[in-house]
Amino acid sequence: MQTKTITVAVGSTNKTKIHHLPKDVIAKIAAGEVIERPAYAVKELIENALDAKADSVAIHIEESGLRKIIVTDNGEGMDKEDLEECFKPHTTSKLQTAEQLSYIHTFGFRGEALASIAAISNVTIQSKTEKAISGTSIEITDSVVKKISPIGMPGGTTITVADLFHSVPGRKKFLKSYRTELRHIIAVITSFAFANSAVHFVLTHNKKIIFDLPKKQNLSERIKLLLGTTIFFSLLPVNYEKGALNISGFIAKPQLTTTSNQKQFIYINQRKVSDKFISLAVKDAYGNLLASKTHPIFILFVSLPYEYVDVNVHPRKEEVRFVDAKMVYDSVHAAVSQTLTEKNITYYLREEKGLALSDKITNSFAGRLLKENQIPWDIRAHDKIATTNPVQFHNLYLLTQTKYGIALIDQHGAHERILYEQFMEAFLKQKKELPQYHLSTPKLFDLSFSERELLHEYLPQLEKLGFVIESFKDNSFLLHAMPLVFQDRNPEILFTELLEDLMQKKSFKTIDSLSQKMIAYLACRAAIKAGESLTKKQAKELLEKLEQTNNNATCPHGRPTKIIIAIDQLHRMFKRK
Ligand code: ADP
Ligand code: MG
Repeated sequence: MQTKTITVAVGSTNKTKIHHLPKDVIAKIAAGEVIERPAYAVKELIENALDAKADSVAIHIEESGLRKIIVTDNGEGMDKEDLEECFKPHTTSKLQTAEQLSYIHTFGFRGEALASIAAISNVTIQSKTEKAISGTSIEITDSVVKKISPIGMPGGTTITVADLFHSVPGRKKFLKSYRTELRHIIAVITSFAFANSAVHFVLTHNKKIIFDLPKKQNLSERIKLLLGTTIFFSLLPVNYEKGALNISGFIAKPQLTTTSNQKQFIYINQRKVSDKFISLAVKDAYGNLLASKTHPIFILFVSLPYEYVDVNVHPRKEEVRFVDAKMVYDSVHAAVSQTLTEKNITYYLREEKGLALSDKITNSFAGRLLKENQIPWDIRAHDKIATTNPVQFHNLYLLTQTKYGIALIDQHGAHERILYEQFMEAFLKQKKELPQYHLSTPKLFDLSFSERELLHEYLPQLEKLGFVIESFKDNSFLLHAMPLVFQDRNPEILFTELLEDLMQKKSFKTIDSLSQKMIAYLACRAAIKAGESLTKKQAKELLEKLEQTNNNATCPHGRPTKIIIAIDQLHRMFKRK
């Protein structure tokens, strides 16, 4: 096999192995870091259009952007002199001094994007300012101007990026399939479309319209169009203000979740970012309304004074750093909790036809625009369930009516939620308010070493919940009392199961999530089981308590406690409407 490793050193005069890279190579390397895939070029071009205050942006893509990306805007435009500068490295109209770095209010500021794109493609820029009589067209190949000529055009800018990566063939190999690249492009434009709902966006791929979003569309309409009706119908609005910080947008009801965090849109001062801390704050606020391993869906706009955020931390500006991250976490948490407590999160049975599959974005989106203008979160305010005369069937479900329909209640899940909220309240008050049940004779437990350690670790929580456990000798313990709710359960079985359960969940990090899981566990153990027959009185009491309970739409594990079928839907099912 031939080796070519020394060829690079041939040109150098001395024998050192380290040499300086030629300028064009440096530019290509740098460009590759920023423009890793076509979608990133699209992102930079749209940012420039928005920075130029355009309210209409058209994006035309060919072959997932590898052949052509054309972005046309109706913004401020550039004159001939600016056109000759704009594609050179570190040229910008947006930043002048280092101090300004601490309050950046434009998307761009580094003056790198056009230079990076021009280093790895053939670029044509056509632009005209409002007051200029004609526009200018400039063609750039390998960062060198090949042609400048006047051109008639409306005010604004059109940038054509052809044969992206043609000069860095290595990069092309790393790209995923054409489909994946197109998906990334759509995701990028979707993100801009949410934050700029007053701006007209149109995307075509190989001359076919993928979507055409009208100017001045409201955000929820855009969400319906781009993410589909399923998500649209489960949206809850968020509005929160604290001092100089403001949070707005939408979260989806906890019943609608995803297994990835792809449907989380976080904007800091209108800039789309990914931020684990904010994602976590939202997730924590949903708490046990979410089933485990699922992620909430949300679109949140956080705005705060520019000097509270550093946007200059990530090469593609996709992450930011906060001066006070805890304040941001707390506020996002509070904003989401507030929405979840105030809004109705009950399950409604809906006809499933006409559902949009979120990833299948087609022309028919435009058609959907014309349908239904209902806003999901206020169609059915709190639909109270009647607590008199519920009917139990299959020893599992209760049936009753609501003002606007009928309700089915899962007796176990409902009771679990009631007990959970009760336990939680008592626990949070830090008082041993939970009624206790004293065993007539203390029960002796002999544990293994690891179980003993485990028990010692969790003893404080258990005591808060009403257990009285005495360390007897070596690995033995005496159980004197338990929370009253366990009085008809077998203490021996209960206690061993509790330990086994704790054993499997060694990953508890904070006391809080531990207590929470423990309380959820206790609520589950103590709740009426599926299969237990209830008297009329018991069923009535259960529903009454459920109605008084917070967050009563789901059990502590995120499953629904009740499902409501609206009466108008029943009418439709019976063909009365
Ligand atoms: P940055 O956006 O960080 O300033 P870019 O390389 O993206 O750097 O763009 C360089 C400059 O070119 C911008 O500062 C802006 O003045 C000008 N420019 C780029 N795109 C447009 C556009 N679509 N409309 C008007 N001016 C533009
Ligand atoms: Mg830019």
